[in-house]
Amino acid sequence: MNDDRSRTLYDRALSVMPGGVNSAVRAAIEPYPFFVSRGDGGHVIDADGNRLIDWVMGLGPLLLGHDLPNRVEAEIQRAASQGPMYGTPTEVEVDLAEFVVRHVPSVEKIRFVNSGTEATVSAVRLARGTTGRNKIVIMQGGYHGAQESTLVEGDAQRPSPSSAGIPQSFAKHTLPVPFNDEAAINTVFDEHGDDIAGVMVEPILANYGIVHPEDGYLQFLREITAEYGSLLIFDEVITGFRVGGLGCAQSHFDVTPDITTFGKIVGGGFPVGAIGGRAELIEQFAPTGDVFQAGTFSGHPVTMAAGLETLSFAAQADVYDHVNDLGDQLRSGLADILEDQAPQYTVVGRDSMFKVVFTRDGPASEALAAEGACESGCRQRPGCARYETCPKNASDVMDAETARWRRIFWGKMRDQGVFLSQNQFESQFVSYAHTEADVEETLEAYKHAL
Ligand SMILES: *Cc1c(COP(=O)(O)O)cnc(C)c1O
Repeated sequence: MNDDRSRTLYDRALSVMPGGVNSAVRAAIEPYPFFVSRGDGGHVIDADGNRLIDWVMGLGPLLLGHDLPNRVEAEIQRAASQGPMYGTPTEVEVDLAEFVVRHVPSVEKIRFVNSGTEATVSAVRLARGTTGRNKIVIMQGGYHGAQESTLVEGDAQRPSPSSAGIPQSFAKHTLPVPFNDEAAINTVFDEHGDDIAGVMVEPILANYGIVHPEDGYLQFLREITAEYGSLLIFDEVITGFRVGGLGCAQSHFDVTPDITTFGKIVGGGFPVGAIGGRAELIEQFAPTGDVFQAGTFSGHPVTMAAGLETLSFAAQADVYDHVNDLGDQLRSGLADILEDQAPQYTVVGRDSMFKVVFTRDGPASEALAAEGACESGCRQRPGCARYETCPKNASDVMDAETARWRRIFWGKMRDQGVFLSQNQFESQFVSYAHTEADVEETLEAYKHAL
């Protein structure tokens, strides 16, 4: 695959941008990322003219793919042509807020911001501000953007900053625990219960290989936070308007968080974030409350129009049926391929998210055939032949063959014209623009690359 132009561009980029990129993960593709010149349905065309099936979809925001339906594109163009923004409210903000409130069970009021990071920063401040407490519980391997309160690693006994530039005196207020581990949650609440402002969790760990919650885990988090007067914060920046359709993951799992953060899809491909929840909580934000929150670009008319038209289109057309159906085809096709070629690996994901985690020590294919396994992605089902070895938390994913995934497998897929996310950890996404032919071509490529 010729990539002369991408190499030349990256050479220029290295002179003027750290690592040649504007977001750290983009440089994970080695020796250099390819530069995209344009999108085309479910494909991207790179700077050298190579055409790749795109399962990365902007790392999550693109529910409809690269070719927007005419009515969505027309509304975005209309909003942009009326002048970019004003610093005063516009109708479309109210329309999008009403749409989200109508569809997402826990959201009575919402504040729009400009990125998922800004949403989680504001949610943490809101949780601390309304409870008067300091500590935030997070999941190891959970991702909540590039922010001080969550770039914390280690465990609840020894939390430490995972980035330079964050004082230990901040990090000590963050308590990381393993996902799917009720005992660890009980321990932090025993020790710190009266100082825990909130538990922040992705309902499905979606930035770390995709890990499904065990049955009852999210309900358990709901109950223990309520018992201690802490807030349950669902970070639905990835799962929002993807898992569970317009009701988001919280409606799928039937658990009602106090606060939800959004991003990605809700801006229809433009920069966005949002914090939603019960009215009396969200009203603690300024100007009605004491928790300061503001932004020059917040509720940007072009973003609001893109988000509203994308979601209205999804409400009226067969968007979720299409993406979830192709997701099922991908996951069950992958499960069949793995049974023959790599029974130790695990297919994960649900709805329009999918991934193969290169787990070690999986069951033999005879055991899979005899006992049956989750057919359409790991569901943490105790009777499944894979149950003992499928990933339950971030350290299980970390123990997988991550180097093989990134250094060997990713390149073999790209050479066959399939663009997967850059490492073992990031999720992959089906869009409305993808077709059954894209699925078949992708499954063929997996057969050759695994
Ligand atoms: C992407 C993501 C974020 C950060 O959003 P940005 O828009 O990149 O700042 C936060 N939380 C989750 C779950 C995400 O997937």
